[in-house]
Amino acid sequence: MINHNLYIEQIDAYIDPYKPVKNAIITHSHFDHAKPGHENVLATKETIEIMKIRYGVNCARNFQVIKYNDEIIMNNIRIKFVPAGHILGSSQILISNKKNKILITGDFKTINDKSCVSFEETKCDFLITEATFGLPIFKHPNPRSEIKKLTNEIKKKDDQTFLVGAYSLGKSQRLISLLREVGYDETVFIHGSLKKICDYYVKNGIFLGSYEHVKNKKEKDLINKIIIAPPSSIKSSWSNRFINKKLCLASGWMTIKQRVKQNQIEIPLVISDHSDWFELTNNILNSQAKKVWVTHGREDALTYWCKENSINSKPLRFINREEGN
Ligand SMILES: [Zn+2]
Ligand SMILES: [Zn+2]
Repeated sequence: MINHNLYIEQIDAYIDPYKPVKNAIITHSHFDHAKPGHENVLATKETIEIMKIRYGVNCARNFQVIKYNDEIIMNNIRIKFVPAGHILGSSQILISNKKNKILITGDFKTINDKSCVSFEETKCDFLITEATFGLPIFKHPNPRSEIKKLTNEIKKKDDQTFLVGAYSLGKSQRLISLLREVGYDETVFIHGSLKKICDYYVKNGIFLGSYEHVKNKKEKDLINKIIIAPPSSIKSSWSNRFINKKLCLASGWMTIKQRVKQNQIEIPLVISDHSDWFELTNNILNSQAKKVWVTHGREDALTYWCKENSINSKPLRFINREEGN
């Protein structure tokens, strides 16, 4: 029903195609999954609206909105979008005919996140799973205890400005939401590139409290405060004006000490929007799939684990996918 390029011939559609196609089914709005220029896009309302914010309203010719767990039938194939718990609007795609149920996870995490709809476990015959953190060394800690590492540092009132690197779509909003969850109620300052997405999250009922563009703020107003910016900005010339800054980075990769050192991060926050090894392997078992394709990350260890557990599996390697965080 589906080939190695995630192409479904019977309905002439690709899942997350990396170049413009006639029919695209899109799991979520991160750049490496949602590309502009398709003729027809099928996705959740949030994915479509975020694509329009990032690429412009004409980024595809036609958009078809599908709600979570609604089903559409095309050419005897049923398509369902199931919450993936990764970012706002993110979905797993379930495609089925009379004989087979195939689930494509897209990027996903199973732990609770107040900034998006929670992951739903789904049974299938054939699972195509992501594997960004597909190595047993990755066991993501509790995100609330991670964010408290930051708020505890702030409480010391050492006159520092906390510059936190976080991907602009999904991670940044989740960080603000987490800060509110642990009781941090100060204004959070943000890099300009985060503004529209934060506003969009708020419009969709995600509580972020007070946040403000950092641009017009004086240095003295930023002492003992948090500024969230894309990871590429926290070490660029953009950040030069902040004095006494402490660099933080929120990413699943912060598990790896070498990455912490390489990026000169003083407060590493292991907070990921992807599943860790244990979520990945539990999901494979819970799906009851007899066949698994592993993509998007560390394929080999997970493929080996499947073999050990008598599950037929193989790695799928895509080009043009970002590393994920
Ligand atoms: Zn993603
Ligand atoms: Zn991805």
